[in-house]
Amino acid sequence: MLLVVTLIHLLSGRTTLAAPSTQPIACDQARGGPYGPAMTVDICFSYYTRKPLATTFSAIRNRGFTCVHLVDYGAGCSKPSRMKPVADAARAEGLTPVLCIYPGTHSALYAAHPEWRQRMLTGIDGKCDWRTYLCPNRSEFVTAYCEQIERQMRECGFEAVQIAEIWFENWGGPQIEGQTNARYACVCDACLEKFRRRTGVDALPMLTDPQSPSFYQKPENAALYAHWVNMRIQTVQDFGKAIIAAARRANPKTCIKTMYMSDARVALDGSREFLGTDLDRMIKEWQPDVLTIQDAWQDWLQKDLQPGFIRDYAKAYRDRVRKLHPNIWLVSHADIGSKPESKRSIEWIQSFARETLAAGFNAPCFYEWHISTMADPEK
Ligand SMILES: [Zn+2]
Repeated sequence: MLLVVTLIHLLSGRTTLAAPSTQPIACDQARGGPYGPAMTVDICFSYYTRKPLATTFSAIRNRGFTCVHLVDYGAGCSKPSRMKPVADAARAEGLTPVLCIYPGTHSALYAAHPEWRQRMLTGIDGKCDWRTYLCPNRSEFVTAYCEQIERQMRECGFEAVQIAEIWFENWGGPQIEGQTNARYACVCDACLEKFRRRTGVDALPMLTDPQSPSFYQKPENAALYAHWVNMRIQTVQDFGKAIIAAARRANPKTCIKTMYMSDARVALDGSREFLGTDLDRMIKEWQPDVLTIQDAWQDWLQKDLQPGFIRDYAKAYRDRVRKLHPNIWLVSHADIGSKPESKRSIEWIQSFARETLAAGFNAPCFYEWHISTMADPEK
């Protein structure tokens, strides 16, 4: 029997009998470190204090990853004195630590400065799902946030930063199915005042009141609403620019990784209107070294999602992005355990990496290690 199995493997060109689950993650070998396969490590989960960091990082490295995205949303558990030993432990195991930030979300600043909080359409103060948001239209916040990033980069010796989910909430726009989108932001005083100065119009009735002469869905208000959309995009662009500058103040050679939420299979370029993110402008104006195309939640929440879904993303973005920035490094992204539906097998994760390369991207990136099957295959 063993002879037959060996013969099959020799005939199929395989030199070992390794089970698929131990194969390293596929990637473009031309660049390693922050450019290679990335695993997100959300260091505030207690898992990372219960288990020796060396054990965790050697396990990640043995899977074929070359970098770890260390999440920092401004909580006490990721302050520099807590983050530095984690970054050092990753380096000691041969991994490049990457500071992974979610701009706008900073727990300490959110608690200290209620006046900087974003406002949603129904008055919620900048909370959506697990994130809290401060408003990038407040220059004091942008300054304070960039100081935090610069300090974190400097004190932990980061050589790369992942700018993840830089956007305004919330997918769908001001109204969804004829109802006000409760988590649509931001309509804080600073945002309303900025728009009023530009157009003379109060944005609140424009976004919420179908009876208002300025209601954004009336065809005659298309240009007015475009002003609003473009103002949000400009704010995100300026915010990103300020963050990149802060990272480079700490380390001029910082590898800049930017994440873009895929809208290819939902509503192509819908992110401009809904999230204030403009893919072309991000590429042209920020000139990131790496672009990560984030999987849309409408995709990753599908239990039976096939790893080849990434090909649709490549079709929509790959050539478009490379035309704007020929040397950009393209990274795919898959959620592999935030919800029961997105829990993927090790074989699925490996297949996704192969599909990533076949689609013309350079490497895959995943969220998140301790909730994945890779961290605990037996469960
Ligand atoms: Zn605002």
